[in-house]
Amino acid sequence: MDYSDKISAQVAAVPRSGIRDFFELVQGREDVISLGVGEPDFATPWHIREAAIYSLEKGQTSYTSNLGLLKLRKLIASYVGDFFDVAYQPADEILVSVGVSEAIDLALRALLNPGDEVIYHEPCYVSYSPSIVMAHGVAVPVATSKSDGFSLKAEALEKVITSRSRVLMLNFPTNPTGAIAPREDLEEIAALCIKHDLIVLTDEIYSELIYDDAPHTSIASLPGMKERCVLLHGFSKAFAMTGFRLGYACAPAPIIDAMMKIHQYSMLCAPMQSQVAATEALENGAKAVAEMKKSYHQRRDYMVRRLHEMGIDCHLPGGAFYVFPDIRKFGMKSKEFAMRLLEETSVAAVPGDAFGDSGEGFLRCCYATSMEKIVEAMNRMEAFVKTL
Ligand code: PLP
Repeated sequence: MDYSDKISAQVAAVPRSGIRDFFELVQGREDVISLGVGEPDFATPWHIREAAIYSLEKGQTSYTSNLGLLKLRKLIASYVGDFFDVAYQPADEILVSVGVSEAIDLALRALLNPGDEVIYHEPCYVSYSPSIVMAHGVAVPVATSKSDGFSLKAEALEKVITSRSRVLMLNFPTNPTGAIAPREDLEEIAALCIKHDLIVLTDEIYSELIYDDAPHTSIASLPGMKERCVLLHGFSKAFAMTGFRLGYACAPAPIIDAMMKIHQYSMLCAPMQSQVAATEALENGAKAVAEMKKSYHQRRDYMVRRLHEMGIDCHLPGGAFYVFPDIRKFGMKSKEFAMRLLEETSVAAVPGDAFGDSGEGFLRCCYATSMEKIVEAMNRMEAFVKTL
């Protein structure tokens, strides 16, 4: 059967993830050191795993409330209040989701009418543009540059705002650049959002992973912004809980209610064991997060230093666990560089254009892998660069 006219146009228009395509090439190759997939190399801290195991032993195998366990929502409210300085009501302003991924999808589907424009800064996480398109929106990327530390500037944002603009998506620290946004930049952006009546989805998934004691501001905490923000956060990165698939959205009650309708019919609720584990993470996980962060910090410094020593220009990422070296001087496209690096040295890094056109000329190297592997990957990369 010819399926080309059977698949929805919306879905057909979406390309497969550039990261996954690249990493299919790596599958089954024992010799490859992967700086690819953005996932902590740490197993989830034992006490968190134990909480999930114990919940199974106790027979906690049922659905939970659609919004998520009330105990967890209360803990989220208190954590978000302390960490981001924004107060949300556990009863109707917090929804527990299947990862931040689901929360992004829910928010976009809840907010967009067909043809509405969603602005986001690029290079960005691979799911943003496809999620917008699948929610019948129009994706409007704004390129950020290395000279601005890949932060979004209000001036660049204002240029793309039209009467159809409805949502702005922000992600600081940013995947793939590790960029953090200075408070002043966010204040200018917030003023534009108020002026043009935009709703902001702020993806805070890397917020715990900010280095050098740099302060972090969530745009949701700025005056007048809580009412127009959906704060998205989760457990995958800082708590090393990717496989638990747990995230949450905090927003004004009418937005959470709209998101809840979609969640209720499509997902029903996030898995009980993951919610129990997340409860333990919020109650007792701070020490483990601090230890993992310390380790990422050392790896970041090492990787950036080695890249500089081999003559590769690379801005110092303020957060997350990625470095985004500039490989333009080698006169190759990102894909060609990444393919040659893989073929000639068995080191896998993601071509920057997987994160949007403005990522062309860069490479994403994830340092959420062991120091031993990072040292070896840098040695191999150095030898490769000498041949160019
Ligand atoms: N947002 C960003 C910026 C990410 O980098 C990722 C995962 O890499 C996600 C969301 C998805 O997170 P989750 O595992 O919570 O679905």
